[in-house]
Amino acid sequence: MSPTLERIASNARLPAEADVVVIGAGIVGSAAAYYLAKRGHAVALVEKGVVGGEQSSRNWGWCRQQNRDARELPLAMRAMDLWDSFSREIGGDIGFRRSGLVYASNDTGQIAQWEKWRETARQFGIDTRMLSGSEAAAMTGGHSWRGGVHSVSDGKAEPARAAPVLAEGARSHGASIHQDCAARGLDITNGAVSGVITEKGLIRTRSVILSGGAWASAFCRRHGIRFPQASIRSTILRTEVAPKLLNALYTPDCALTRRLDGSYTIAISGKGTLEITPQGLRYAREFLPMFIKRLKAVEFGLGTSFFRGPEALGGWAFDRETPFERIRVLDPVPSRTSVALTLARARALYPALQDVAVRESWGSYIDSTPDAVPVISPVAGLQGFVLAAGFSGHGFGLGPAAGHLAADLAVGDTPIVDPRPFRHSRLIDGSRGEIGEF
Ligand SMILES: Cc1cc2nc3c(=O)[nH]c(=O)nc-3n(C[C@H](O)[C@H](O)[C@H](O)COP(=O)(O)OP(=O)(O)OC[C@H]3O[C@@H](n4cnc5c(N)ncnc54)[C@H](O)[C@@H]3O)c2cc1C
Repeated sequence: MSPTLERIASNARLPAEADVVVIGAGIVGSAAAYYLAKRGHAVALVEKGVVGGEQSSRNWGWCRQQNRDARELPLAMRAMDLWDSFSREIGGDIGFRRSGLVYASNDTGQIAQWEKWRETARQFGIDTRMLSGSEAAAMTGGHSWRGGVHSVSDGKAEPARAAPVLAEGARSHGASIHQDCAARGLDITNGAVSGVITEKGLIRTRSVILSGGAWASAFCRRHGIRFPQASIRSTILRTEVAPKLLNALYTPDCALTRRLDGSYTIAISGKGTLEITPQGLRYAREFLPMFIKRLKAVEFGLGTSFFRGPEALGGWAFDRETPFERIRVLDPVPSRTSVALTLARARALYPALQDVAVRESWGSYIDSTPDAVPVISPVAGLQGFVLAAGFSGHGFGLGPAAGHLAADLAVGDTPIVDPRPFRHSRLIDGSRGEIGEF
């Protein structure tokens, strides 16, 4: 079942032209539309389903600098400032709180990794504090831990609200929003974008941002662009409103996040299923090192995604129904065994949750690149096209700055951070970065 999500209305009419068309209204596309419209550009935000309906409403809501790959840190730091400014700028509570994030573990290897990351934190001036076993215990209701870390100025926002509120912010500056409106493909003239072909008609434009989440690789492939991307299916649950036990806690067993309404989002970090798909096979070589290094908890499975969905076989014509219209919202069935295991672990950690029921559970695909760093970049050979996808399980917190950077690149403004770490070419020409430590 899909999670609770704030719904917003669409604009009545599709514009015939726009300065920029943003394809995909998750947190990244909504943020891109917001910053473009705020600067006075005519923007159309097109979404095949509903604003925020896929990953951006299905995540834990953590907005963190802690444990990031150093290549992402400048972007993550800018993102925190932008999160701070939203409520002030847009109005409406997007749920962002610098509540701090607590990590606790009994795994000495993991604690050593956190300790090692402190050197990165020091270089960037990020306030993070290692916790002794007794300090970690004091911060987590008395459990016994070997150690932990407290990222003091990190926080969380409300996934059910963030993308819709940002999209409304874009509209207040003149952007138009079009849901149930899949982009079927690009109109291309002499190697440059000249329009976006949607299921509701053509929008003429010279500038496109593709922020299509798990669908981005398929969209790119239709235009001959190689974008190695793989998705892991994961399961997550939300409780009924419960007593206040914590703000946000990661442990190797499970992670709990208190939401605005007093319920908890609970999940097991890293646990998921990698479904064998034609796209997965195409990019298997690129992803092998990552799966070996990072995703020990991942199971392999064969399901309907081989034939249906973003990673399935086949192309499509622009004048009839496409895969984007056949699956308006990616809403994979949550794993019942994962829900039961997650709940049992959370209750073992916090017996006060014993009688608290599960309100909803849902599945989601987490889209990733081979080096776990997103692509936010123009693409060689196609003028006017900016790709912003592959957020590798940590794009919600980055979202505002990622959208800002995509917007900067689309209209040629000074980029909010150095865009080179996010270049598309690193995944194509062998100049690929190392796999991130975390
Ligand atoms: C269980 C889980 C927990 C997570 N926890 C965190 C966390 O705590 N912190 C964090 O920072 N990140 C977290 N993430 C990752 C984060 O949710 C994603 O990285 C982020 O939401 C990606 O945003 P996006 O805008 O790129 O993609 P999405 O939110 O997936 O949006 C893409 C949108 O594009 C639309 N679209 C695709 N193709 C087309 C088309 N052709 N035409 C029109 N529309 C199209 C889709 O319908 C979709 O709405 C988590 C993810 C999951 C699943």
